[in-house]
Amino acid sequence: MSDRAYVIDEMISAKAIAARIEELCRKITDEFGDTDKLVVVGLLRGSFVFIADLVRELDLPIEVDFLEASSYGDSMESSREVRILKDLRGAIEGRDVLVVEDIVDTGHTLNHVTNLLVSRKPKRLKSIALLDKPSRREVDFRSDWIGFEIPDEFVVGYGIDYAQRNRNLPFIGKVRFTEA
Ligand code: 5GP
Ligand code: MG
Ligand code: MG
Repeated sequence: MSDRAYVIDEMISAKAIAARIEELCRKITDEFGDTDKLVVVGLLRGSFVFIADLVRELDLPIEVDFLEASSYGDSMESSREVRILKDLRGAIEGRDVLVVEDIVDTGHTLNHVTNLLVSRKPKRLKSIALLDKPSRREVDFRSDWIGFEIPDEFVVGYGIDYAQRNRNLPFIGKVRFTEA
């Protein structure tokens, strides 16, 4: 937990996020339009706002499930070792699955999670991330759909936290420290 003072500069507005989600949902519907049921898997906790907006734009039969993988803890550094803290409630064998993540950074988390879920033999599995920081990648992973590519900045808002704060901001902002 940090006590350093910081301000948040808006990077992506709520309006821009909403417009991008409409576009992304058209692509998802093109891919999964014939599904009998799509299992939408949110990665806790950062994706909770994104998944809520996404499913309300998706005119498909869906189920929602959640998975929690360890990542930063409360620090600003990624941990390369990914652990599953909370697994899915439901089986996904033979199902259509969409994994929803907040940010792809080093790529370790989504790479690990998608490999794990693929090993359970879904019929189709795709992933979507609201944000992508390609310059930070450490493993060769690409999400099927991306909301926005961003530079190497620490961001908060729209579900994404800094030490558990700022998840309730309606936009994506970058953290700027105002003292050393
Ligand atoms: P990766 O395993 O790709 O390095 O990290 C993915 C996770 O790190 C994301 O799901 C997110 O939880 C966290 N993360 C990456 N970049 C940021 C950031 O700028 N701000 C916050 N709050 N978390 C981030
Ligand atoms: Mg995350
Ligand atoms: Mg976090």
